Amino acid sequence: MSRTPPDFPQLSRRTALTSLIALGVALQAGPLLGATKRKFYLQPLGSGLKQSDVEFVKKSLLAFYDFDLELLPEVPLPKSAYYAPRNRYRAEKLLSFLKQRLPDDGFRILGITTKDISTTKGKIKDWGILGLATIDGVACVISSFRTKRKTKNHQHALERFGKVAVHEIGHTLGLDHCPTEGCLMRDARGSVLSTDHEYDLCSEICRKQLIRSGYELSGGNPPWPKPSS
Ligand SMILES: [Zn+2]
Ligand SMILES: [Zn+2]
Repeated sequence: MSRTPPDFPQLSRRTALTSLIALGVALQAGPLLGATKRKFYLQPLGSGLKQSDVEFVKKSLLAFYDFDLELLPEVPLPKSAYYAPRNRYRAEKLLSFLKQRLPDDGFRILGITTKDISTTKGKIKDWGILGLATIDGVACVISSFRTKRKTKNHQHALERFGKVAVHEIGHTLGLDHCPTEGCLMRDARGSVLSTDHEYDLCSEICRKQLIRSGYELSGGNPPWPKPSS
């Protein structure tokens, strides 16, 4: 007759109990330490970005999305993305470049540049844009080049830039363009001027979808004034 060593089951129970307690502690500590927050990286591409501008983009994103935001050291724009005929950079190539640069613990990466960027839009082979993202994609990119048009001052251009950042990150979190008046996910239709009528992510469609997808939103106020009309 085989016998189980008498203390074996007891030891096993104690180990299991200890593990459960450890798990309980981990679950409690997680949210307090912010360990469960998703990590987003900001990647400056090329020179010319002011630190205060990068800070404003960070502030804009954190007013909407509750995640950890980390700034990566600046890297030059990849030569592979350069489009010589128009002296600008192809945004979809920048997305592939950024994807490769996402650190292992990162959830999304946002490339940020002062240089003009472009993509193919319908029949237009090389169309200048404010930003590009793929829906549910890992990377997106924004450019400040087109934000200065008809601006009153630098702050005005900066606010537009922040809005574009919130918009492109919204795409990477699964949001499509939104028809709601004043919503940051409205289609810019190629003009930066449309961002001047935008203020917030709408609660009826966009915020609802983000929450349904399990994304944490922050309760901050947008760092720009409410449009008058
Ligand atoms: Zn868009
Ligand atoms: Zn919306």
